[in-house]
Amino acid sequence: MPSDNFAYMTATLIARLTATLRDVPDFPTPGILFKDITPVLADPALMREAISAMAAPFVHSGITHVVGVESRGFLFGMPLALHLNVPFAPARKPGKLPWKTERESYDLEYRSDVLEMHTDAVGAGARVVVVDDVLATGGTAAATCRLIERLGATVAGVSVLVELGFLDGRARLAGRTVHSVVTL
Ligand code: AMP
Repeated sequence: MPSDNFAYMTATLIARLTATLRDVPDFPTPGILFKDITPVLADPALMREAISAMAAPFVHSGITHVVGVESRGFLFGMPLALHLNVPFAPARKPGKLPWKTERESYDLEYRSDVLEMHTDAVGAGARVVVVDDVLATGGTAAATCRLIERLGATVAGVSVLVELGFLDGRARLAGRTVHSVVTL
């Protein structure tokens, strides 16, 4: 496909996603403009293209696993894993996973939080893509990367549907490959 055709398709996808994402002001707390992805989930054709675009930089990267971050990261991570034909593993809030877990704490603006993964989810030799819906401050994705590395695996990159550029989440992920389909 000629590259200008590809650029046109990409621009069209970004425009459709931007028009479909729903802005919800003051949710969950005053001052937050929440990016609601449920209208994207409700459009199978758009969703299929979005997953394809999220996967694109990683198709020929020897990816062995996709890790999705609870909970909206599951909605994009699982189809992305199917797209790449590799296993999916969840990174979950504390106390949710039933077997042996490793955990990682991270600081948010006014509190700290914890993510857990099963100790056998990924290991030495694994090359992992971390998936979430929205990259905001980058704290969640950075903690997930650290957790995966503590389990002995390599993080090939982070893939999100939406990046809130003004929050500079990339700074927290310095040195890592960060891929977003839409930057707002
Ligand atoms: P952060 O750790 O700041 O990058 O936050 C990322 C997590 O919070 C992701 O799991 C997002 O789903 C969620 N999130 C943060 N800000 C927003 C927002 N404005 N709209 C939707 N989700 C958000």
